[in-house]
Amino acid sequence: MGQPLRVLVLGAGFGGLEVTSRLAARFGDAVDVTLIDAADSFIFGFSKLDVMFGRVPESHVAHAYRDLVERPGARFVQARIESIDPTSKQVDTDAGTFDADVLVVALGANLDTSAVPGMLEGGHEFYTVRGAFAVRDVLANFDGGRVVIAVTSTPFKCPPAPSETALLMHDFLQSRGLRETSSITLVMPLPKPIPPSPAASEALLAAFAERGIDFVPDSLVRGLDAARQVALIGDEVEMPYDLFLGVPRHVAPDVVVAAGMTVDGWIPVDPNTLETSFADVYAVGDVTSVGTPKAGVFAEGQAAIVADRLAARIDGSPAAAEYDGRGICYVEFGDDTVGRVEVIFRPGQPPAGTFDAPTLDWAANKAEFGRSRVARWFGREWTPLG
Ligand SMILES: Cc1cc2nc3c(=O)[nH]c(=O)nc-3n(C[C@H](O)[C@H](O)[C@H](O)COP(=O)(O)OP(=O)(O)OC[C@H]3O[C@@H](n4cnc5c(N)ncnc54)[C@H](O)[C@@H]3O)c2cc1C
Repeated sequence: MGQPLRVLVLGAGFGGLEVTSRLAARFGDAVDVTLIDAADSFIFGFSKLDVMFGRVPESHVAHAYRDLVERPGARFVQARIESIDPTSKQVDTDAGTFDADVLVVALGANLDTSAVPGMLEGGHEFYTVRGAFAVRDVLANFDGGRVVIAVTSTPFKCPPAPSETALLMHDFLQSRGLRETSSITLVMPLPKPIPPSPAASEALLAAFAERGIDFVPDSLVRGLDAARQVALIGDEVEMPYDLFLGVPRHVAPDVVVAAGMTVDGWIPVDPNTLETSFADVYAVGDVTSVGTPKAGVFAEGQAAIVADRLAARIDGSPAAAEYDGRGICYVEFGDDTVGRVEVIFRPGQPPAGTFDAPTLDWAANKAEFGRSRVARWFGREWTPLG
């Protein structure tokens, strides 16, 4: 038998964790997988909202990489990736240089929190881990008033998240007796809350109307006048606020741009195979322009295809698995209920999907989604809301 295939997985988020655990579970030490991430732990995107609204403490939502399921053939290295050579497949980090036969780039999207003038001086962003956790303390001291939740550029991760934030904000203010003295406005660059799912959009618009949440479509906040506490929308509109929560600009990590792997900001991939234009270099998840929304479920689905294709290469069997663009998103509707959107994105076709109305059962289903990933990747019991 020859040397095991050396696979270097860059980024231990949804995509990186999934490709690593699949390969290691199937091949043991017949594969040599190195998973690299600068962080010491993984946090689900949805856990940011759970911490922000005080549903669970931050200690509950961090999954330390030192607790990853130990498998022969896979190892985790905590290191900052400083450069990638996609031709030689050599990667420099602050913990040394790594060489590979195959690269899987799963470095996600970075958040440029300074791109919107005045946002950090006059408001808060809630998309980074640090930002979301800081908003928890801001909310704890909030006495009510005009709350503006706004997206500042496209694309952005988890398109339902700003709508979820508005609905959870309603519950939060109500539980503190502040809803009567507060308004909630959601500003989005889209015509509807979730355009690929008309039924989910209608349900969200109905939920906003029932709760008195103002939805402002087709609009981007381009800056804040921090001194006057107004959000600037386009050239004409000023929106006063007491509390501003923004979704910052998303960009590919610098190291990927510097590697010359991006076109129009993101890594182009074959939508069926997740191959980049560089031989034996794959990319999955938010760092790509594959055509699905930037969400963990899609990153995970793409990672599964890469793992299957690498498995076929290791086995010597023909690579059959192709990505189908399918994903399930759970959407928090407030009152502890969750709706479910299933959508398929295929190149050249309009997205098609189904929507299941919010219930407590779908909330339990979402909890099971989180539980099963933590069991698979970290080998321990966990439920998102404790
Ligand atoms: C508020 C909110 C709610 C969300 N809710 C959901 C949801 O309910 N369902 C869902 O599917 N998605 C949700 N998402 C989106 C989801 O979190 C992301 O889309 C998903 O994590 C993308 O996976 P990924 O593997 O592409 O990248 P990521 O999970 O972002 O992983 C990228 C990894 O790369 C590492 N990295 C980056 N640069 C470097 C470097 N130079 N050196 C070393 N390491 C580096 C990072 O530390 C990170 O761990 C939500 C997001 C937010 C913000």
